[in-house]
Amino acid sequence: MNSPDLPSSDESTVICSAKGCRAAAVWVLAWNNPKLHTPDRRKTWLACDEHREHLSQFLGLRGFLKDVVTLEEWEASAR
Ligand SMILES: [Zn+2]
Repeated sequence: MNSPDLPSSDESTVICSAKGCRAAAVWVLAWNNPKLHTPDRRKTWLACDEHREHLSQFLGLRGFLKDVVTLEEWEASAR
């Protein structure tokens, strides 16, 4: 998709999941909501350096957070 509003359409760039943030993500937050997901299911949020703490705190408070790894590590383990 070519969107004129976006500065780059580089598909290898993954963006932070924080609201309004367009920084490149370097962290993967793996989480699971036991009310919605089976225990081995992992949802992921991406985070830049700046938002890693904020997002992991949000998930941690709810007891959803399972793992925080660098994007590099995550991709290495997923493939
Ligand atoms: Zn961010």
